[in-house]
Amino acid sequence: MQWLERAPEGVRLPVTTPLDEVETAARDAGVLILEFDAFRDGRGFSLAAVLRERGYRGRLIADGRVIPDQARHLRRSGFDGVVLGAGADVNAWRRMDAAFSATYQPVEDRAAPIWRRRELARKPEAIVDRLNRETRGGDAEDILRAALDPALGLKPAVLSSFGAEAAVLLSLVARIDPSTPVVFLDTGMHFLQTLAYRKALSERLGLTDVRLVTPDAGERADLDPRDDLWRADPDACCDLRKVRPLERALAGIDAVITGRKEHQTPDRLGLRPFELFEGRIRVNPLHDWSEERLQAWFDAEDLPRHPLTAQGYRSIGCWPCTEAVEVGEDARLGRWSGAAKTECGIHLGRRALAVG
Ligand code: SF4
Repeated sequence: MQWLERAPEGVRLPVTTPLDEVETAARDAGVLILEFDAFRDGRGFSLAAVLRERGYRGRLIADGRVIPDQARHLRRSGFDGVVLGAGADVNAWRRMDAAFSATYQPVEDRAAPIWRRRELARKPEAIVDRLNRETRGGDAEDILRAALDPALGLKPAVLSSFGAEAAVLLSLVARIDPSTPVVFLDTGMHFLQTLAYRKALSERLGLTDVRLVTPDAGERADLDPRDDLWRADPDACCDLRKVRPLERALAGIDAVITGRKEHQTPDRLGLRPFELFEGRIRVNPLHDWSEERLQAWFDAEDLPRHPLTAQGYRSIGCWPCTEAVEVGEDARLGRWSGAAKTECGIHLGRRALAVG
C-alpha cells in the first residue's frame, strides 16, 4: 500500500458512480482514483473489490474522506494507494493497516480467513486428503499452485539442495511466486560449485527469499570441532548440520515443498503429492517425474545445470559424502557410497534417525 501526499495523474471518479460506468472507465485506465465523499460510504470498497475480481490490474487509489481505521479494509478490497495529503500522520495509517493479523472473510487479497487457519491446525489430515483429491490427475504446477494459494492459508517454504535436479522445482516455484521462501541447508561441507550455482540460479530465476541455514556454532564446536564427524558417524553429522538447523528454520512454516521423486529410493515408492509429516504438510510436486522428464525440462526451459553434472555427479550433497557415478548407474549410488545410509535424515525425522 502506498501512502501518498497527492494523487497521481489518472481517471478520477466519485464513489457514487454506477458500477458499469466505473468499469468502462477502468478499461483503459492505468490509474483509477475513487473519491470518497464520506468515510461512512462503503460503495468505494465494493467498487474496488468488484473491479479487482473482474480483472482490473491497474493502480487503484482512494482519495477524499477516508480515515486510518479503514487502512486495512482499503488494502483488502483492492486499493494499492491512499491519498493522505500533506502533513498527515502516516504512522497512524501504517499502525491501523497492521493492527490485525486475522481475517474473517476471503476477499481480493486471498488472505486465508481465520476459520481456514483453525481448520489447518485442527484437522491437517483432512486438508492433506482434500489437496490430494483436488489435484488428482494434475501436474506439478497444479500441485504447487494449490500449495501456494494464499486462500489456503499455508505458510510454505521450499527445501532445496541446489543440487543436480533442483532447478526444475525452483523454476516451477519461480513461475508462480518467486518470493516463496527457499531454505538451503548450508552445512559448511558443500562443494564450492554448489555455492556458486545457488547464487547464479537464484539470480536467473529471480528468487527473492533464499534463506541460508547454518548449523549452530556452539553445537558444531562441541560435537564436531574438527569437521570430521562424517567419517565416524554420518547420521550424527547429518543431525548436527541438517536436521537440527532445519527444525529451527522451519519454525512458523507449515508446508515444506520438496523435490523428492518416487524413482529415487525404495522408501519413496508410492510418494503422494501431499503428505503429513511430523505435524507439517509436505508437498512433493515432482513425485512422479522420471529422470528423462527432468532432463527434458532442463532443455525446454534452458535451465543452467549444476557444474558438477558434467563430471558425472548426478545426486549432489556435501563433498565428503558425494561421488560421481558411472553412466547407467543409479544416481543415488553416489551418496554415502559404501554405507547403508541412503537419506540424510531431513525426510525421515528425528525419531527415525535414533541419534542423541
Ligand atoms: S551429508 Fe555428509 S558431510 Fe553432509 S551433513 Fe551428512 S554426513 Fe555430514
